[in-house]
Amino acid sequence: MIKFGYAPVVSRTLDLDSSDFSLRDELIREVPSYKKCIGCGGCTSTCSAHQHTEFSILRCNMLFRRGKYDVLEKELDKCMLCGKCLLVCPRNVNTRDMIIKMRLLVQHKNKKQ
Ligand code: SF4
Ligand code: SF4
Repeated sequence: MIKFGYAPVVSRTLDLDSSDFSLRDELIREVPSYKKCIGCGGCTSTCSAHQHTEFSILRCNMLFRRGKYDVLEKELDKCMLCGKCLLVCPRNVNTRDMIIKMRLLVQHKNKKQ
């Protein structure tokens, strides 16, 4: 077999039909501003944890929206809840509250499984 020095990347196709979105509506009820997020990434670029680790609040948000709760629980623990991201959000999303509620919902969901 000829080696080209690279390999095909793992498919990132999303199967939305089999995704679990059960917690999304609950989070919107608890933190209504969550619905206004446009995914601009401003929160991630200002995040102190992101500057020193691979933690990304935007990634957490995406994982949550896609129902990937198993991976998300560990990821959310890296947030220091400093609230810096809250100051830069152009949509006034209460990111700090969003993370706190996300943690609770995801922990509860993963415990039940
Ligand atoms: S800065 Fe606000 S609008 Fe932009 S991705 Fe973060 S939470 Fe969403
Ligand atoms: S609250 Fe969490 S996500 Fe926001 S800036 Fe602080 S460490 Fe980053």
